Amino acid sequence: PDLDQLYVHESVENVIPKEAFVDAFDDLSIPTALVGDGHEFGRTDAIATYVPRPEFLDAGWVHCIRAGYDEFDTEAYEDAGVRLTNSTGIHGSTVGELALSFMLSLARLDHRYRDHQNQRTWWEPPYDRPFTIENERACVVGLGTIGKAIATRCDAMGMEVVGVRRSDEPVPGVSDIFSPDELHEAIEDARFVVLTVPHTPETDGMLSDEEFELMRDDAYVINVARGPIVDEDALVDALEDDEIAGAGLDVFETEPLPEASPLWDFDEVIISPHKASATNRYHLDLADLVMENVHRYQSGDLLKNRVA
Ligand code: NAD
Repeated sequence: PDLDQLYVHESVENVIPKEAFVDAFDDLSIPTALVGDGHEFGRTDAIATYVPRPEFLDAGWVHCIRAGYDEFDTEAYEDAGVRLTNSTGIHGSTVGELALSFMLSLARLDHRYRDHQNQRTWWEPPYDRPFTIENERACVVGLGTIGKAIATRCDAMGMEVVGVRRSDEPVPGVSDIFSPDELHEAIEDARFVVLTVPHTPETDGMLSDEEFELMRDDAYVINVARGPIVDEDALVDALEDDEIAGAGLDVFETEPLPEASPLWDFDEVIISPHKASATNRYHLDLADLVMENVHRYQSGDLLKNRVA
């Protein structure tokens, strides 16, 4: 059956203003309304949401406003015959720019200058500490929307870019592609190891003791994907033992990052609060994607970003 109602679950306010998001659907052919927990849905309802809820399995279609849909039970959606879509395809510039800014700062030392500015101190780094990212090697693990956006940006900065991907199809800006089982070979010469894979059973703990040991000791980990892709205890040990030089992290095993985490204390770790995709027009980008899928749904076309 066709859709006759789009619901916006209030959990969207984790990342966007919910009222502005609802307003963005003004021109849609079906009405849009905010909804909280405990509502009963039917097959003619669509829901845009941040979190999964059991009652969503009675709807016709559920759209996850995140690219990472690892909290959704895709099998349950398939069994219930409910379409599930995610929001990949819109985070290239936002997450790409944060990843690039992490790399630039770790090389050019913005973060250290700001630390000292906070103390009103004219700090001069040791001669051999600053470097340029130009000519350095970045290994981008996962070449989807975000990985490709990072690869083109690194390439534009004059970096040498290699990547890890399941298919060996060439990617613009990437000089060499390794398969997932060649991960070690791919990361061992990289100055920056950039994680842009989804969190799945295969990518869980992808960087752990063994990987940090074989990485260069002047290498940096950039994680803008999901926390558990990096074994956080192993990362702390590697930083303490100078097995690697530092990290730029937007995502963590536990979020918000607990106050007691040792990660807060490293000069060469930059922490951002899982806000890599934040932009003042994020709600509009998400609404465009949902509206395109409403049109596809009503025309009987395949939905974009269908994951179940
Ligand atoms: P995407 O689906 O476009 O890209 C993911 C890529 O990873 C795909 O090309 C896929 O084939 C590849 N991949 C999957 N498993 C792999 C493996 N084992 N080895 C190598 N490659 C593998 O998704 P995207 O929009 O680029 O987002 C990627 C991930 O980033 C999301 O799943 C999400 O968890 C995370 N993310 C984080 C933020 C943030 O705010 N920090 C924002 C958006 C997305």
